[in-house]
Amino acid sequence: RAKREGRNQSRIYTADMSTQTQARVALEKNLRRALAKREFLLHYQPQVDLQTGQIVGMEALLRWQRPGFGIVPPAEFIPVAEESGLIIPIGEWVLREACTQNKLWQDAGLPSLRMAVNISARQFGLNGRFMTEMVDQVLKESGLMPEYLELELTESLVMANPEQTAHILHRLKDRGISISVDDFGTGYSSLSYLKRFPIDKLKIDRSFVRDITHDDADAAIVNAVISLGHSLNLQVIAEGVETTEQLEYLRQEGCDGIQGYLFSRPMPAIALTQMLRKVRPFEINSSK
Ligand code: C2E
Ligand code: MG
Ligand code: MG
Ligand code: MG
Repeated sequence: RAKREGRNQSRIYTADMSTQTQARVALEKNLRRALAKREFLLHYQPQVDLQTGQIVGMEALLRWQRPGFGIVPPAEFIPVAEESGLIIPIGEWVLREACTQNKLWQDAGLPSLRMAVNISARQFGLNGRFMTEMVDQVLKESGLMPEYLELELTESLVMANPEQTAHILHRLKDRGISISVDDFGTGYSSLSYLKRFPIDKLKIDRSFVRDITHDDADAAIVNAVISLGHSLNLQVIAEGVETTEQLEYLRQEGCDGIQGYLFSRPMPAIALTQMLRKVRPFEINSSK
């Protein structure tokens, strides 16, 4: 009897797995189609300098305008895109779109800003040649100067294959591209990569910023990241800033920049164009 139950259980388990697998395969198919049908789009979130209150850059964030579903956030499809390898063509589309849009803004006479693009480990590939060639080609086609491109990597990407990654990053850096570490402090990684890799910027993860004004441990971590970054000559910017209290705290601790809903949510290119036209500095000194 136990045996029969066991068998039934394993059958149920198998059926369940195959449902999951089917869902994954269906999503993969839909992602492939989405790419062909141009259903992806980018939203852009400004980054603000805490000294001047000026917008100094922006991050391109992928969205999927899925017919019948509205706008699908990246958390719902990036993992499958990564597992299936589709992140390679999707990531190339993101880079091309972001660079082209940035060049359009520059050509329209708007202030020249650096565009940050998120990169997945899979995009670095096995020999890295693809990555540098792809970036070169996109820069050439879009006409964007490499100085106005920043690539955001995670600690897990960096640690997946440190030798290889260091090599590719140096080649990208040679071209004038900036490198930042996204979600800093959330990965399982050794800090030693910070001295071996040509990194320009640390982005403090939103999870540390959220309770910064009332959680001593979070405040201590954020302060430590700012000091560490500055001692290594890196820029430090905070993600997910939603309140003036968080802003004020970060400014007092010498954080270089912020990105978050307080200043602006990620928005379509047309809305950012309107914001950039106003060129009004963000009021950062709430006390003045
Ligand atoms: P991320 O790179 O850390 O991007 C920051 C995320 O925080 C974005 O979520 C942004 O909308 C959100 N955010 C910004 N400010 C605030 C705030 O004040 N409060 C809150 N609650 N959230 C804030 P989003 O756009 O949903 O993207 C999630 C993640 O998906 C990104 O995290 C990144 O890891 C990944 N992703 C997005 N676009 C791409 C892409 O083109 N390629 C790759 N490989 N990954 C991407
Ligand atoms: Mg990012
Ligand atoms: Mg981040
Ligand atoms: Mg994050």
